[in-house]
Amino acid sequence: MLAGKLAVITGSNSGIGLGVAEELARAGADVVLNSFTDRPEDHALAADLAKRHGVTARYIQADMSKAADCRALIAKAGGCDILVNNAGVQFVAPVDEFPTEKWDQIIAINLSSAFHTTAVALPGMRAKGWGRVVNIASAHGLTASPFKSAYIAAKHGVVGLSKTVALETAGQGITCNAICPGYVLTPLVEAQIPDQMKVHNMDRDTVIREVMLLRQPSRQFATVEQIGGTTVYLCSAAADQVTGTTISVDGGWTAL
Ligand code: NAD
Repeated sequence: MLAGKLAVITGSNSGIGLGVAEELARAGADVVLNSFTDRPEDHALAADLAKRHGVTARYIQADMSKAADCRALIAKAGGCDILVNNAGVQFVAPVDEFPTEKWDQIIAINLSSAFHTTAVALPGMRAKGWGRVVNIASAHGLTASPFKSAYIAAKHGVVGLSKTVALETAGQGITCNAICPGYVLTPLVEAQIPDQMKVHNMDRDTVIREVMLLRQPSRQFATVEQIGGTTVYLCSAAADQVTGTTISVDGGWTAL
């Protein structure tokens, strides 16, 4: 379905980004993986995707906290047809104790990087008359929780950026949308489970259901395959008129 399309996925050497790359490659897209590291195992991830799905896959190192790196990523990729802005980090502290450098880092990686990559990618998409910008926001792009001020400000910003880009590209064969996942079982989240079990003195299933998924009515994690599948849908012809909106994949979190 996506043969001949090139997808750049930021922050894609683990978790949701890698899952999205997997589903796009399964649908036939060539892919560019990215993170700030440059290890043999990063490049091996791309080689593995290429081999399993018969597509072209490359890994390009770029630090999404830096404007110049964000712009260079798209230039080095040679432009792209599908841009998935996924790189993101989290830090938790009360707003009056939130370290300024953490605020700046989260806004840079989770929000500003999407501005820079989109700005560079759009002219090529316009020239081809086809493009997809998929921003991985969060349920926290639509709702708030205490102690996550920078993350929530950035994710609400990503939703706003998506709407603006959609309006500026409407009718040009380009769409821009935000996917808003609830809790997704990524390595990052998996690593928190043992600590939560200890703190709450609960077994794995109970801590997942009663603590981690308290706000997710399904009491089930979303999966990286589901976020990847939603991305593939947004890249399909069925979604040609889906633009400037959010798609929640959150087990009912935002319906509460
Ligand atoms: P993750 O830590 O597995 O993935 C984050 C990715 O971003 C990694 O590939 C990491 O290398 C990359 N990254 C971090 N800093 C970077 C930088 N400076 N430059 C380039 N890449 C960088 O976490 P994840 O859960 O897969 O999160 C991916 C995205 O999904 C994030 O934007 C996150 O906010 C969002 N999200 C996650 C969840 C969840 O429950 N896991 C829920 C909602 C939204």
